[in-house]
Amino acid sequence: MRLILLGPPGAGKGTQAKILVEAFGIPQLSTGDILRSAIAARTPMGLAAKEIMDRGDLVSDAVVNGIVSERLDAADCKPGFILDGFPRTIAQAEALDTMLADKGLALNAVIEIKADVDVLVQRVVSRGKETGGRADDNEEVLRKRLNVYTEQTAPLVAYYADKGLLKVVDGMEAVEQVTAKIKAAIGN
Ligand code: AMP
Repeated sequence: MRLILLGPPGAGKGTQAKILVEAFGIPQLSTGDILRSAIAARTPMGLAAKEIMDRGDLVSDAVVNGIVSERLDAADCKPGFILDGFPRTIAQAEALDTMLADKGLALNAVIEIKADVDVLVQRVVSRGKETGGRADDNEEVLRKRLNVYTEQTAPLVAYYADKGLLKVVDGMEAVEQVTAKIKAAIGN
């Protein structure tokens, strides 16, 4: 099963990805998590990404495409994967198409988790407070990330709808309900 979870910050992509990892025994590929690990490890890539992430902008397509291309070759991705937070631009989606074609692979579905922007601001701001937080989980940066989503990532909805891959679920329902709808959408 090869899936993309698409949706604005705070819509529940990470939460759902972790549940689907358990259900399907395939890994979650979160470019955000990989970048945060690089920051924690103070690698050159992490150091370069930190400032960009802290202000809510997107890291360059070249950097994240490189991360994903390398990660897809790992043995644990053989049975499939759940992409969470990638692609985020049309250029990334096109690069992913090329990577998958080169590897002889195809996506099964792209799940758009739809969410209400005001509720998202609440959710993410409280996530920042509860977890002692991600540097980018404050209201100002979140609004920036939501704008970036609308401008650069939302066009992927049409991109994948045109390919007949898009499934839409309502991300405002309870976590278990959203999971059930995702499973139903992918025929499980
Ligand atoms: P996330 O954990 O998916 O919310 O990502 C956190 C931050 O990491 C984003 O706001 C971006 O700065 C960066 N990032 C993660 N994934 C990507 C991506 N696919 N393209 C560009 N930047 C990304």
